[in-house]
Amino acid sequence: MATKLPKTDIVLVGVGWVGGIIAAELTKKGYKVVGIERGKERSTEDYFMAHDELRYAERKEMMQDLSKETITFRHDMTKRALPYREWGSFLIGEGTGGSGEHWNGQTYRFLPYDFEIYSETVKRYGKGKIPKGMMLQDWGITYEELEPYFDKFDAMTGISGEANPLPDSPQIKYPNPPMLETPAIKLFKNAAKELGYHPYHMPSNNLSQSYTNPDGVSRGACQYCGFCERFGCEYGAKASPVVTVLPVAKETGNFEVRTHSVVRKVLHTNGKATGVLYVDIRTGEEFIQEADVVVVSAYQMNNIKLLLNSQLGRPYDPVTGTGVIGRNYAYQTILGTAVGFFDKEFNLYGGAGSLGAQIDDFNGDFFDHTDLDFLHGATIQITQLGDRPIANNQIPAGVPTWGKEFKDASVTNANRALIVKAQGASLPWQDNYIDLDPTYKDAFGDPLLRMTFNWKDQDRQLMKFMGEKSAEIMKKMGAKDIKINGLEVGDYDIRNYQSTHNTGGVIMGSDPETSALNSYLQMWDCENVFVPGASAFAQNSGYNPTGTVGALAYRAAEGIEKYLKTGGLLV
Ligand SMILES: Cc1cc2nc3c(=O)[nH]c(=O)nc-3n(C[C@H](O)[C@H](O)[C@H](O)COP(=O)(O)OP(=O)(O)OC[C@H]3O[C@@H](n4cnc5c(N)ncnc54)[C@H](O)[C@@H]3O)c2cc1C
Ligand code: SF4
Repeated sequence: MATKLPKTDIVLVGVGWVGGIIAAELTKKGYKVVGIERGKERSTEDYFMAHDELRYAERKEMMQDLSKETITFRHDMTKRALPYREWGSFLIGEGTGGSGEHWNGQTYRFLPYDFEIYSETVKRYGKGKIPKGMMLQDWGITYEELEPYFDKFDAMTGISGEANPLPDSPQIKYPNPPMLETPAIKLFKNAAKELGYHPYHMPSNNLSQSYTNPDGVSRGACQYCGFCERFGCEYGAKASPVVTVLPVAKETGNFEVRTHSVVRKVLHTNGKATGVLYVDIRTGEEFIQEADVVVVSAYQMNNIKLLLNSQLGRPYDPVTGTGVIGRNYAYQTILGTAVGFFDKEFNLYGGAGSLGAQIDDFNGDFFDHTDLDFLHGATIQITQLGDRPIANNQIPAGVPTWGKEFKDASVTNANRALIVKAQGASLPWQDNYIDLDPTYKDAFGDPLLRMTFNWKDQDRQLMKFMGEKSAEIMKKMGAKDIKINGLEVGDYDIRNYQSTHNTGGVIMGSDPETSALNSYLQMWDCENVFVPGASAFAQNSGYNPTGTVGALAYRAAEGIEKYLKTGGLLV
């Protein structure tokens, strides 16, 4: 029998970026917030002297324990899904700060086009441009409406960047100047400029200089240590919930975090949530935390899982295309890359998670799609993350991937290989979706999520186009030999890391028939449940998601406050 705990104003399921922002915003206003987090408490001290590639990058020390909870995967509805038992295509974090601790910090705002993709596509190309089965829909909110929330996220985290020189792109003024320009980045920028494109420094959440944010939190500058993606930052230079929003929430005295606690269900009756049921994994004891508002902030996939297992919202049916929970799962295409081999050496061991430059000339609808067989596009970028020795062994095409020849080529090309890569939008389709697996269960006996996903011709054509554009830039950069990836892509391969930019499944919109949430991230079907996160994205973009996730979290915090004052649906 679960122990009932005293009621609080707001309970959070998961204390990562979304949970942290909501906790800070609402505790500052005097509300009591309880955060239930399945992982352990993290602090900057945990990351001192932790540059251990095997432990963090290869064995994934900071990620969810797949032996207790995972997803199952299949390429299409006719197949049987099998559990994802080893980390591959994407990684999911746990512990306070969530994936926001070991992320890279490449921080963008989705484009005005992204939020109104259906209307914009129809306006420019006509309805016939949207292929059968592609589930394009507007988000129920515009870029202009979200702009003040983007500004808040940028100021809180302290983004370092420069304005995008592409005409028609939003002109954003970042709080800090861009990161350093290394020789490799300079080479990319010069080549792209010579080709008539518009290169600029990647917006970075690794600080270019010391910074004090509007909450009075001060942090020091990035040391370009190169152990950033998949690692916590020992200097506090990388924006993460642990060094920004969580201390602010704790300082108010209104925030309590309960770690090692897995939420199994959102409890609800007569269309309203009453709280959550969770298990303390150290003792196995079950608790009920009652609350006026439940915020599901458990990362895109866990958000869907929790709603489906709680029987909240109408599950999506891929045959009829009706229902909402699990709808519009989307991903990113990152296979359109060009690896260039040079005679000269670069110092690639130094770097940072979001040190790089890019062009947006082929992202969104900045280019004409009339004669193209795909919609949307990709950013084309070079990054210098720090070439960790185990992960980086670039070899030219035709060289075996084992033995003496491999070793010789890998030693010769260490510090002499650069990559230009394209990160593109994989758009939603009626038969790419998420539901509950009928066979496999997690450690508590709850069904696992089942992902049904594969690339479509749209993705393959986009990757081919971007692979060729990446190679064009690489050629201009002067590589003596170029390996192009993405020209012929088969099935989606879940075994290789691509990006933790999974989106959709609990999407926002203006119609309860085709969306789960309104523009305040409030559930249409359960007015005191808010579900911010990338699960709310109606489709994916060529940008990384967290800038937009952060803006939506600020928007949700405002909505929750309104709801606590007035009740009812806010839209
Ligand atoms: C290696 C890596 C690199 C990345 N780099 C970038 C980047 O450069 N730019 C970018 O924009 N994005 C990046 N991301 C993505 C970014 O980390 C996420 O978009 C962001 O953290 C999402 O915030 P969130 O609050 O939704 O989820 P998270 O920050 O992951 O927080 C969710 C929290 O919920 C907890 N939780 C889950 N289920 C339960 C449950 N049932 N009960 C209790 N707690 C639960 C988890 O333990 C976790 O702490 C990266 C991700 C990874 C893994
Ligand atoms: S590269 Fe910079 S931001 Fe990243 S972990 Fe190292 S010091 Fe921190």
